Amino acid sequence: MTTRAEVQKLDAADPLAKYRAQFDLPEGVLYLDGNSLGPPPKRALEALRQTGEREWGEGLIRSWNEAGWIDLPKTCGAKIAPLIGAGAEEVIVADSVSVNLFKLAAALLGAAPGDVAVDDDEFPTDGYVMEGLARMTGATLVRLRPGDAIPMNVRVLIISLINYKTAAVADMGAVEREARSRNAAVIWDLSHATGLIDVDVKRDGAKFAIGCGYKFLNGGPGAPAFLYVAREEACRLHQPLSGWMGHAAPFDFAPDYRPAAGALRFASGTPPILSLAALDAALDVFSGVELKLVEAKARGLGDLFLERAMALGLKTISPLQGGRRGGHVSLIHENGYAIMQALIARGIIGDFRAPDLMRFGFSPLFLRYTDVCEVADALAEILRTEEWRDPRYARRGVVT
Ligand SMILES: *Cc1c(COP(=O)(O)O)cnc(C)c1O
Repeated sequence: MTTRAEVQKLDAADPLAKYRAQFDLPEGVLYLDGNSLGPPPKRALEALRQTGEREWGEGLIRSWNEAGWIDLPKTCGAKIAPLIGAGAEEVIVADSVSVNLFKLAAALLGAAPGDVAVDDDEFPTDGYVMEGLARMTGATLVRLRPGDAIPMNVRVLIISLINYKTAAVADMGAVEREARSRNAAVIWDLSHATGLIDVDVKRDGAKFAIGCGYKFLNGGPGAPAFLYVAREEACRLHQPLSGWMGHAAPFDFAPDYRPAAGALRFASGTPPILSLAALDAALDVFSGVELKLVEAKARGLGDLFLERAMALGLKTISPLQGGRRGGHVSLIHENGYAIMQALIARGIIGDFRAPDLMRFGFSPLFLRYTDVCEVADALAEILRTEEWRDPRYARRGVVT
């Protein structure tokens, strides 16, 4: 078992330790849910004040031009692009992951009709959206199990690079090769990967992706999502929510739709400027950050936690120490909900995924190795004293 002294050395030698100061973290809280809602970077809170009071309050409608509001979907996209290995004009920020998936999958199906497929253990909204699209188009929705080959008639496949339950990392290059051999297009859900691991869509041949703005990108609650389309693909795709923000010249007010060049044609309606302002500032935290270091630290924090969790006799569905794992570790326990509530009562905030998973997110930009030991110690004590049996830990909120 790694000793406390060794753990302190890891923190002392951590090249990412300096980023913690950029976040506004409450006193007395260990936050292990940055994979679900990133905490506010100080500069994002400042941007919200600035955009609200100065740009909205004083600039009023002039700020669409003068404060660059109209370009924010592109500006934010250009800041996300290097995090996934894409070109600046290949990424835009708009809507939610669910809506972006619908637009992209519908556009792909329009260009090459056939069936659609989704992994059985995919984040549910992805399956729900594909179900709706299948109903609308008459396509069959195929649910894939681990190890299944892509069926011949499938034209569009949605898959997460990092699974939201297990944190297992898929092999992007291998999936792309298989899909190409079957004439299927892959839409990557990068929600749990962006800002955490070193994604490289060009190296791996990925042409389509969507992802979340409020997880490791720290864009704030309900931050808009992003959408990536390779430049050679965008021009042949027509998305169904062809609103004016995706028009080549929205302020011509022309009666007919003419799509903008590149990924911008996937925009639909007026963008949420307050949310975009926060996301735009939050993305600046990543300027100069080496994602290989972030990925390595995420694994290091998770390995340390797993070492201690296994010593307590707990079970995991996440890749074990040394395995390719994203930013969280999921432990299985039949009383997981109550145990997590007992942790939260102590200021250690993780989350719970039905039916029996306790999720511990290890965001490398603001967590320390010593924090992991504290979490493991608290968990050990809660299990030993059985304090989770307190009836108040059984009450469930809508959001778990
Ligand atoms: C968080 C998450 C989403 C969220 O989708 P929204 O439509 O933006 O709410 C979708 N897919 C995955 C894999 C996620 O982790």
